[in-house]
Amino acid sequence: MGLTKNSTGIKASDTNFNIKNVGAKKIIAIAGNPNVGKSTVFNSLTGMRQHTGNWPGKTVTNAQGLCKSKNKSYLMVDIPGTYSLSARSAEEEVARDYICFGNPDAVVVVCDATCLERNLNLVLQITEITSNVIVCINLMDEAERRGVDIKIPELSKRLGVPVIGTVARKKKSLAPLLKAIDEITSAKEIFPLRVRYCPEIEKAISIIEPVIRKKTEGKINSRWLSLKFLEHETGLIEKTEKILSISFSDDATIISSLESAYSFLDEQGISREKLEEEIAETFVRSAEDICDGVVVFDENTYNIRDRKADRILTSKWAGYPVMLLLLVLVFWLTLTGANYPSQLISGLLFRVQDFFTLCLRNIGAPEWVNGVFVLGAYRVLAWVVSVMLPPMAIFFPLFTLLEDLGYLPRVAYNLDKPFRRCNACGKQALTMCMGFGCNAAGIVGCRIIDSPRERLLAVLTNSFVPCNGRFPVLIAVLTMFFVGTAGGITSSLLSSVLLTIVILVGIGATFGITFLLSKTILKGVPSSFTLELPPYRMPQIGKVIVRSIFDRTLFVLGRAVAVAIPAGIIIWIMANVRAGDISLLNYCAQVLDPFANLMGIDGVILIAFILGFPANEIVIPIIIMAYTAQGTILELDSIVQMKDLFINNGWTWITAINVMLFCLMHWPCSTTLLTVKKETGSWKWTALAAVIPTIVGVCACMVFTFIAKLFIV
Ligand code: GDP
Repeated sequence: MGLTKNSTGIKASDTNFNIKNVGAKKIIAIAGNPNVGKSTVFNSLTGMRQHTGNWPGKTVTNAQGLCKSKNKSYLMVDIPGTYSLSARSAEEEVARDYICFGNPDAVVVVCDATCLERNLNLVLQITEITSNVIVCINLMDEAERRGVDIKIPELSKRLGVPVIGTVARKKKSLAPLLKAIDEITSAKEIFPLRVRYCPEIEKAISIIEPVIRKKTEGKINSRWLSLKFLEHETGLIEKTEKILSISFSDDATIISSLESAYSFLDEQGISREKLEEEIAETFVRSAEDICDGVVVFDENTYNIRDRKADRILTSKWAGYPVMLLLLVLVFWLTLTGANYPSQLISGLLFRVQDFFTLCLRNIGAPEWVNGVFVLGAYRVLAWVVSVMLPPMAIFFPLFTLLEDLGYLPRVAYNLDKPFRRCNACGKQALTMCMGFGCNAAGIVGCRIIDSPRERLLAVLTNSFVPCNGRFPVLIAVLTMFFVGTAGGITSSLLSSVLLTIVILVGIGATFGITFLLSKTILKGVPSSFTLELPPYRMPQIGKVIVRSIFDRTLFVLGRAVAVAIPAGIIIWIMANVRAGDISLLNYCAQVLDPFANLMGIDGVILIAFILGFPANEIVIPIIIMAYTAQGTILELDSIVQMKDLFINNGWTWITAINVMLFCLMHWPCSTTLLTVKKETGSWKWTALAAVIPTIVGVCACMVFTFIAKLFIV
């Protein structure tokens, strides 16, 4: 940080925009409505892999990357999608602040060619603030398919800024955009169309603009800021004061001109509400006028296919069954597909383990070296890789395909009603879906929820859906105790159905706890929200696979591996350092035994969950190490042997169900909790994010054990 770029003298670091030192590079902001392809444009230009997906609201912070044209290099900043600059939500505020105070050298406003008129609203608001605007009309291929024709040169003439048509998925189509960026940043002066309001508002602006201009010394667009004064945008005005280090409130000239402007509007019968309405209407009318004759629609073909699909996928009778079937299908493909590669990788990695042990023995290394590094670190690592990698490499791309297709917003639409009944926001369905991959990602995603109360509800309940670290535990226990280890299509189908049921228990807990919280510590009425159903888009299968493997699978695996190595060493030491005739691990387990027994599990399982705090994927290896501490070392490559080991240590189907319940509902991993702290800024909410699922999990296990034992006896 520490950048002092731009002619205005505003320090970007003051504005908290997290811009790295970019030397003399020009800064280009990429703005636009949600889901118009901003991140795809950004990725194509910078070669980066910013998250893209077919639903509004994925980009919640500014991302930046370098981009080179023939002669220049730029720092591109992908800002969150926003419909307007009125900053009604957190993302809109980030976007508005960046355009106002980040002082980019140019703003590329990406628009959706299939609904240009609506997108022009934002274009017109941005041209009110800055002149260096390029309009990038993306999704031209989709527009063509839908019979939408846009006369780009005429549009450019009407808007007074360069307009470029693109298909962001095709990198080549972005060359003219880069050329336009080169031109606009080469001091070529641009005179964009600026909307004119009704004469009364124009007069009120003219009363205050001269004094505002003088005060701000050209550091911010004074006409626009004057309008914000008329709209009483106090938040923005205070921010402007802070960033420009000036004070409007102690300037007598400003106060008196403001009073004159307000009383002028009063005399004209223009109240605050009327002013807002008038401004909004002006934008709508201007966009209509601009598009008139420039955008030609073939109404007949437009959206028919999507509407037909939505009639089924979001209908009362088919919406839920289709969601369930898709969930079973995703799990089935994951489990079946992962089976063979998992065995292959584990066979390979354990052969390497034997090789390492042999090498260490040959060079005469002491037995503890083999223990710590091979039986501890390497073995836990091998478990994590062989058990996690194959399912993740299948699950994530499948999930991303559904995301790219545009199915996720349909899930949110279907789940909106139940979430509303819990006094929460339908968008929580989206953050819940993100939690399937990684709860930490799900929690960051909660920024798409505008109301702070509803955002907290989503944050506190996100860990009730299992992340990829917890899936292996669930799958292993399900396979051992409820499906059988014979394999085959029936058993994998049964596993998927059972796994879906487990997930449904988690989703049920999400609803239940959301409802309870909304009736107690987070009381309130649900806010209204409009979730757009984006068009269905053909996913780019190749890109989806590459993206989900690199961005998600390897990221999550890398984190698990980083935890697994030190954890493996510590656990091996705990399992082998003895106090009398008992290992440290088993000693701790014995201490926890009485409490764990009440939950229908044993102390070893409980300590495994406690030690699995950094990453849940190491829970099963810890249990195995504790059980095998006194005996001969067990080969981990066989699920049958694992089941025998567990049964010999007292596991029954009751233990198995309790392990799954507790795996589903206990404290989130350390990364997730740190994310909660970062997002909420409060230790209280962070503690609650850990305590709530733990209490629910402990109670669920205790109640289940009590009932099960009642029936057995
Ligand atoms: P953002 O929310 O504006 O950042 O939008 P994204 O970059 O995430 O893109 C939204 C969806 O539109 C993704 O599924 C992209 O693959 C897709 N997409 C982006 N640009 C184009 C395009 O020009 N043509 C088509 N057909 N799809 C596109």
